[in-house]
Amino acid sequence: MKRTLSLLLTVLFTLSPVSFVLADGPDGPPDTSFTDIHSSDWFYADVVTAYNAGLINGKSADRFAPDDLLTYAEAVKLAACMRQLHDEGEITLGNGSAVWYETYVTYCKSLGIITADYPWNQAATRAGYMEIFSAALPDTDLTPVNEIPDGAIPDLYGLSAGTTAAIYKLYRAGIVQGTGDDHACAPYSSIQRCEVAAILVRMMASEKRIRFTMSAPEHRIETIGGITYVDGILIANKTYSLPADYAPGGLLPECQAALDALMAGAAADGLSIYPISTYRSYDYQAGLYESYAARDGYAEADRYSARPGHSEHQTGLAIDVNSLAYDFAYTPEGIWLAAHCAEYGFILRYPEGGEAATGYRYEPWHIRYLGVELAGKVTASGLTLEEYLGITSVYRD
Ligand SMILES: [Zn+2]
Repeated sequence: MKRTLSLLLTVLFTLSPVSFVLADGPDGPPDTSFTDIHSSDWFYADVVTAYNAGLINGKSADRFAPDDLLTYAEAVKLAACMRQLHDEGEITLGNGSAVWYETYVTYCKSLGIITADYPWNQAATRAGYMEIFSAALPDTDLTPVNEIPDGAIPDLYGLSAGTTAAIYKLYRAGIVQGTGDDHACAPYSSIQRCEVAAILVRMMASEKRIRFTMSAPEHRIETIGGITYVDGILIANKTYSLPADYAPGGLLPECQAALDALMAGAAADGLSIYPISTYRSYDYQAGLYESYAARDGYAEADRYSARPGHSEHQTGLAIDVNSLAYDFAYTPEGIWLAAHCAEYGFILRYPEGGEAATGYRYEPWHIRYLGVELAGKVTASGLTLEEYLGITSVYRD
């Protein structure tokens, strides 16, 4: 494995072709005069390992440039060379004549390592290079060594299921560990030369992989005055109810302001979005629920109407707009609301397909105020609020 790693690094980083034995790590001061890497740097050992083998060059005699970024073209070259070395024991791929990276792109596509084009000359995001690297070696060479449950990586927002799976694969295989105590991935950040050195070492030498464990996120559920907050977010659903005397009497001011802004935003796009139901008191909800139950029966009423104390409308943070008809979703206003409400701090609280999690049928007209930051995260996650917060929405009886 060491021979193959040094071969790979030779191809990738040397200015002159030389054979090397890869050192295990820094046995002493590195034979470099780089002034921009230090023994306290997390990547120091990896850079020294590669450098001592003569494989990673500095940008100048005294500058390694650990922070310089990797492009997608460079990432796909690394992936292609890793794979060819793995499969064939040598690297015969070389730069293309017209476009230097075309041979690597073609090779990776032929093996299914990549299936689409990337913005080749742009800096690769961490999500992007992980997507490429996770497929660079067969799964049998990326066996899981770390216990990392789904949902444990804290900041994978707005990524496709495939990209998310790729990131988990590399975490579980010990190739990457994220940053900070919570092992955040920073998927939209760029990847640096120092990280590339470390990742290559771990990809090709299994003894270099990092062992660590993560646990599923724990959510803080507090009850204050009979009101339930999950991670500080007021929740009213089938599991968590509000006391009868929780009665803000109308929309909370920040929600009202956000609704006003949303309506103005829609108007600027030539659309009319307006509230048809906002705050509902405990007693009003009781009457509403009983009337639905009398018409449709309790079981059916429970699918679309909340029992008193369980309605989100009692929070002063929820609004029904325009029309309580499913067709609303297909109107210009319904389409605009789904696309833009998060920009104003709202989510579609009961999304299509979410009934098992939220306890309610799809309601394209019902929005819940969460603030711009959280609404953006929840929307981008593709999860219902219950799933995002790890809570249920089920009546006890
Ligand atoms: Zn509603």
